[in-house]
Amino acid sequence: MIAEIVINRSAKKLNTTFDYAIPKDLEELIMIGSTVIVPFGKSSALEEGYVVGIKENSEYEVKEIVKIKHNLSENQIELAQWMAKRYFCNVSDCIKQMLTPGTKSKKESNNVKDKIINVVYLKKEIDEIQFDLDIGKIKSEKQKKILQFLKGNEGVTLSEIEMFTGANRTIIKTLEKNGYVEILEQKIERNPLANKTVTKTNNYKLTNEQQNAFDKVYTYMEKSEYQEFLLYGITGSGKTEIYLQLIEQALKLNRTAIVLVPEISLTPQMIDRFISRFNKNEIAVLHSKLSIGERYDEWNKIKSGNAKIIIGARSAIFAPAKNIGIIIIDEEHDSSYKSESVPKYDAKEIAKRIAKENNCPLLLGSATPDVVTYYKALQNKIMLLKLTKRANSATLPNIDIVDLKMELANGNKSMLSYALHDSIQENLEDKKQTILFLNRRGYSTFIMCRECGYTVKCKNCNISMTYHKTENKLKCHYCGHEENLVTICPKCKSTKIRYFGTGTQKLEQEINRMFPNASTIRMDVDTVTKKNSHEEILNKFKNDGIDILIGTQMVVKGHHFPKVTLVGVVAADSSLNIDDYRANERTFQILTQVAGRAGREKLPGKVIIQTYNPENFSIKCAQQQNFELFYNTEIELRKQLKYPPFCDIILIGFNSLKEEEIIEVSNRVYMELNNNLNKSEFIILKPMPSPIDKIQNRFRWRIIIKGNMTEEANSIINNCLKDIYNTNYKNTRITVDINPNNMT
Ligand code: ADP
Ligand code: ZN
Ligand code: ZN
Repeated sequence: MIAEIVINRSAKKLNTTFDYAIPKDLEELIMIGSTVIVPFGKSSALEEGYVVGIKENSEYEVKEIVKIKHNLSENQIELAQWMAKRYFCNVSDCIKQMLTPGTKSKKESNNVKDKIINVVYLKKEIDEIQFDLDIGKIKSEKQKKILQFLKGNEGVTLSEIEMFTGANRTIIKTLEKNGYVEILEQKIERNPLANKTVTKTNNYKLTNEQQNAFDKVYTYMEKSEYQEFLLYGITGSGKTEIYLQLIEQALKLNRTAIVLVPEISLTPQMIDRFISRFNKNEIAVLHSKLSIGERYDEWNKIKSGNAKIIIGARSAIFAPAKNIGIIIIDEEHDSSYKSESVPKYDAKEIAKRIAKENNCPLLLGSATPDVVTYYKALQNKIMLLKLTKRANSATLPNIDIVDLKMELANGNKSMLSYALHDSIQENLEDKKQTILFLNRRGYSTFIMCRECGYTVKCKNCNISMTYHKTENKLKCHYCGHEENLVTICPKCKSTKIRYFGTGTQKLEQEINRMFPNASTIRMDVDTVTKKNSHEEILNKFKNDGIDILIGTQMVVKGHHFPKVTLVGVVAADSSLNIDDYRANERTFQILTQVAGRAGREKLPGKVIIQTYNPENFSIKCAQQQNFELFYNTEIELRKQLKYPPFCDIILIGFNSLKEEEIIEVSNRVYMELNNNLNKSEFIILKPMPSPIDKIQNRFRWRIIIKGNMTEEANSIINNCLKDIYNTNYKNTRITVDINPNNMT
């Protein structure tokens, strides 16, 4: 018998199968999905590969498989092959998502106190490391092995790396010195579920709306039939309660459940709600902060059938759950369900395939559904379930809009409007808490010479540097490059260099100046580190009686703050001005979610939104908390401009060290696509530099295609790329992203 094998390497040229003979004694064991070791290439070096097909004969002279490792199911292999085509990547990259991570952890005592360990993270983008590997910039085999290992296992300890790769510390240190990896201290918390006692809760008696939604989904679960649902219900309308009761039913039917939540919402409080209803041994939690050993344990708990409820972020959709009775995706509009690194998959699309395979319902939930999802619901492609009332009858907050143009006209140059200033003052006097939201970090976001107009940009990337006051440095938010302050214009030597724009650092400073007696805490990428978690800052705000929390988008999700009665949006415009067809949608979602932070319980809430565009419909609709009105306006615009859901946006991104090469490659791809794609169905825009046309010294170009992605179009694009990879443009990398999150 012959096995068709893909080699586990990301080099694009290896994205094809090779034939190997199956030794007699392994015939029983090897099947589609097996991971095997084979001799490969001229040197017959041993490589790992995956069996993707089995046949009688080969037309080639073949070598033999040396050894078998572990098995995936045929369905998983099929899914990986589908993904490779759909998301334009290698089968092996997709298979990796489904494999059990690492190996068995050393048994840790459950009673160990929190301890500090050293963990290793990649410091460069995976694409970039892969590139350096491909062009042979990294020569040491041991270094290569470590990087390959880390690609799938970030956050492992030094000793884990030594154990798995046979490398020693010196080599890891060399990689650190060369900027490939960083070694960080991390606090290991005891297995979060191990010693946890959570008071048991009982099912609430469902409201009529909840019962109706529950019944519809349950019918499909009971008769084992696939159906996609959208549970659209305002925050606090009792969506989670429905999830819990549906999961209970799935277990009663002897089936399992997968619950996906955005990584940032995967908080202890969230998990507690599940533990309060179910036996904690039946729950597996998958998230990025688990050690490799813990991940292995959770994965095996699922494989063995002991864990029946799987809660996790995006990648948990690949968990080896059997006999799934329901898949739930909470906050389905969240952009984290789309992967931004290879494989650039959409977890919602994957979930749909898996739900179909398992003949079970797929339930998407949101207070601000994705415009595309809602469109499908109105087209009856997804069954729509609505919750219109808050389950615990808390009232929605009052939302005011302040026009910053008017403030300026009235002589107020501060970043707080009179209204917001006074409300903060009042809240401080009443000993209530305030959240201020500003989606830009740093101090000043823009540095310009008043004399000649020169702006300070990163020397590696074509974007403005941001001033960070605490470190007294200019930083590039794309590549992390730092520079000293500029006081004299490098171009005209004038000293009239001015710092413009407001970030969270400056806002915090201003607040401390205006309200010297108020305590503040700041949460953004600069204060949230791998050591100092999101969770810890929020807990501090909640439990230490801090008056004001200042933060970026991170403050939007997760916690319940009973004492927060005021939310101020300092600049609602920052998400409107992004170069993306989803700018309105993102603005509406963010504002609705921030507003939902105020007055969650007994105390009534107040929200003040400051903006230069008070007439913008996404801001107005957020003020009225009116999703339908927002949707109706937005969908008309999308229709006119031909954006999703009316077509797919296919972004072919090029990046290269050499400008001539990027122009040549992108034009070749353009010509080939132009000759092959049907022009009545696809609009292909000419290759152009991306909005950010250089990051980390690599030029960036792109081709945008609008049209409905079909099997045929997919093959045409895949073939075109194959041709290009075979022509050996050494300095250029190409990625394809369908309906990307980020158009920059
Ligand atoms: P969502 O997930 O839509 O934000 P939750 O399920 O968290 O809503 O419900 C909001 C609050 O209302 C929670 O405190 C929850 O315990 C409570 N709740 C949910 N359903 C009911 C019900 N049927 N009766 C009483 N309280 C409920
Ligand atoms: Zn100047
Ligand atoms: Zn940069």
